Amino acid sequence: MMSKIELAPHIREIARVLEGKATEQEIERDLDNYLNVYRMSLEASRRHIVRKYGGDPADLSGGESRSLSQLGLNEGSVDVLVHVLSTTMREITVSGAPKTIQSGIVADETGATMAFTVWDLTKAELKSDTNYLIRYAYTREWNGRPELHLGNRVVVEERPSEEITVPEDISIPAIGGRSAPQVVKIGELRDGLNNIIVTGRILSLKSREVDTPSGRKTIHSGIIGDETGRVEYTAWEDFELMEDEVITISNGYVKGWKGIPRVSFGERAEITKLDIEFPSADELSGEVLRTIEEIERNGGAFDVTTRGTVVDIKKGTGLIFRCPECRRVVLKGVCQVHGKVQQVPDLRIRAVIDDGFASMTAVMRKEISEALTGITLKEALDEARETMDTETISQRFEEYLLAKPLVVRGTVMSDDYGLSMTVNEARFFKPDVRSEAEALLSKIEVI
Ligand SMILES: [Zn+2]
Repeated sequence: MMSKIELAPHIREIARVLEGKATEQEIERDLDNYLNVYRMSLEASRRHIVRKYGGDPADLSGGESRSLSQLGLNEGSVDVLVHVLSTTMREITVSGAPKTIQSGIVADETGATMAFTVWDLTKAELKSDTNYLIRYAYTREWNGRPELHLGNRVVVEERPSEEITVPEDISIPAIGGRSAPQVVKIGELRDGLNNIIVTGRILSLKSREVDTPSGRKTIHSGIIGDETGRVEYTAWEDFELMEDEVITISNGYVKGWKGIPRVSFGERAEITKLDIEFPSADELSGEVLRTIEEIERNGGAFDVTTRGTVVDIKKGTGLIFRCPECRRVVLKGVCQVHGKVQQVPDLRIRAVIDDGFASMTAVMRKEISEALTGITLKEALDEARETMDTETISQRFEEYLLAKPLVVRGTVMSDDYGLSMTVNEARFFKPDVRSEAEALLSKIEVI
């Protein structure tokens, strides 16, 4: 459950978009209700509230300010609501000419801190002990941590002092200083984590050569796992990694793609090869069961298994037609990119799966759709030819699937519409009350 402090920036953001159409108290009450009673995702709740009071949810997406701890290493456009702890002016030389820039430290309500640099003092000059909404900034890595850069696109708005309360006991780091390393399990990885220590077995490995300014380099990538999950990794230096060995990565970081976490480590990382007892590659390649809520908390997941009940079938389920060039779904034989094309028939399921606490969309390709419904592509095409309509197939899919419990395995990403799994395996699931209860008990005992 999100704390009051975590919710505060969202309440203010919704209030800003609604321009007085609702009070912060009303927004807070609604947000609490949607999140904790209806179990909606944060993003869906935010959009819902804005719509409810007659605002435009589109105003939210661009202007969503995030907490500093959520920022990744190389982000293109970020909005943050911060308090300036310290500032200092510096002279640098750019193309032979002297230039003054400003740097310092900002903090936010969660107590997270970050170094910043203002590159163009005509666009912004920050005052110490003052609050700002900084929009269209970007982050760059320094010593394995992100720093905030205010470039020439930045828009800075001074905010009232009561808008942010920075915790009293905050420690001001030296510029370029580093936080303490954090030991994490693979199942806990989420985008933006820095300076982490992770131990896992290398389950797969591929190498490629790249040319860099400092010469030819071998980069390794693949999948690494521990008993809590699996994740993709990229080693930006040649650490002479070997398949099946157990390693500890110190000073790694997580760079996600659409919420799917990926561990990265480069020249500042240290790799220790371990000779310890650790689950075998076989043991680490089985199903990793996680609730949809747990996946949501991490923003996505690589190759996980989850289950829930099909509560909705989305448009685009059943018999669909694709462009042969780009695989996009076409309407009346016209691809939005390639125009009139020789369309290719396909089957697909887009189902909303809910486990009572959170929900996600599961997208299933032809083979899985055929296996679950028992309707083959050939039968679907024959039926559509007979009825001159693809709608009946969609309805039959819906009858087969709606209200059924499903177990699905795949990779989950997130976007404005919430979580979405590309399913690799799916099966119906008969709830076994007895073993469920035992599993629950053993979970409680472990805790
Ligand atoms: Zn196309």
